[in-house]
Amino acid sequence: MTVRIPLTADQGTPYEVVVGCGVWSRLPRLLAERCPAHLYAVVTDSRVDTLYGKRIADLLAAAGLTARAFVFPAGEWNKVRETWADLCDRMVAAGVGRDAAVVALGGGVVGDLAGFVAATLHRGIPWVQVPTTVLAMIDASIGGKTGVDLPAGKNLVGAFHQPRLVLADVESLATLPRNQVAAGCAEAVKHGIVADAAYADDLGRAAAACLSRTLDTLQAVIERSIRIKGEIVAADASERGRRQVLNFGHTVGHAVEATSGYALLHGEAVAIGMAVEAALAEAAGIASPGTRARVLELLGHFDLPTTVPETVACDDLLEAMRADKKVRAGALRFALPAAIGRMAHGADGAWTVEMSPAQVRGALEACR
Ligand code: NAD
Repeated sequence: MTVRIPLTADQGTPYEVVVGCGVWSRLPRLLAERCPAHLYAVVTDSRVDTLYGKRIADLLAAAGLTARAFVFPAGEWNKVRETWADLCDRMVAAGVGRDAAVVALGGGVVGDLAGFVAATLHRGIPWVQVPTTVLAMIDASIGGKTGVDLPAGKNLVGAFHQPRLVLADVESLATLPRNQVAAGCAEAVKHGIVADAAYADDLGRAAAACLSRTLDTLQAVIERSIRIKGEIVAADASERGRRQVLNFGHTVGHAVEATSGYALLHGEAVAIGMAVEAALAEAAGIASPGTRARVLELLGHFDLPTTVPETVACDDLLEAMRADKKVRAGALRFALPAAIGRMAHGADGAWTVEMSPAQVRGALEACR
């Protein structure tokens, strides 16, 4: 399947997301067509390098393309300025110039870091995403958001830099651990909740097959999620309007992720965030009765966590939320569901709703 992301001229060049089993064999031709370069800097993490680094290097070499690998240690805690600086230094030393392009091979951490390097090195060079996790295929690789975490919070430094191509080979998911598959599916559940109730229902039925890595089922889920995310992103590339609905679960989720010292996977933290934010929406009368229970049921199908860890204090979570990008004039704002498949508007017509610290505290306590 190929989905076109039709950006306007000021947003960047439109690009395609190509998904399927065995599509990596098309990488050299697609690179030459969509992202011609003198040299390809393949950025990947240590785990993905062990699994797939040689295969990608061999594919590019066989097609006569020049490539160099730049590997950093796997883990969210490495999505930081120091790794970005180290990658830039190594690339410049290896002769990665303005006529080079970046290939991001890996999960969302690789995509965010490699994309930020591509956005900033030589004031921006082209790049291509080759996602290898469910989360990266359905979410992180689409939309052009790149960046790194700061000690104060997630993704606080970054840039919008759209890739020239996204090439997702579903076969690469065969090696992905079950908990990583589930964490990726948290973002699929989010897509159903924010935009498509029928998709949410179908996900509930597909959960067991996804968790056992049935590739046909995973491919169908990935394709549907990419269509939803692609449509939302194409209409609002710079996240000034409806794209904010994709933040459902992320205000609390990012805070849980950061305050737990990244002990939870991103998708697991987002699952907890969706549970808390659904409770918040229902308690405030924004979500129709039963929405929270349905959110919990959907997450339960994927064995995802839905309670706030006892070890994390409410005050620390509220403090971490103050670093969220949706904070306006010091007030916390959330993207909240009105019902499964439909998101709420705030009083000012925005896609986010202001909530008081007391309301947020109440929802956090209700989810202990
Ligand atoms: P990740 O990149 O850390 O990958 C998870 C783990 O799986 C890593 O250890 C990795 O080495 C390993 N791995 C990757 N592919 C594998 C494979 N095929 N087989 C076996 N192991 C494999 O994490 P993630 O969940 O992919 O991404 C999370 C990151 O994405 C977070 O930093 C989050 O903020 C970011 N994100 C970005 C966006 C965006 O729009 N840019 C959207 C959502 C999430």
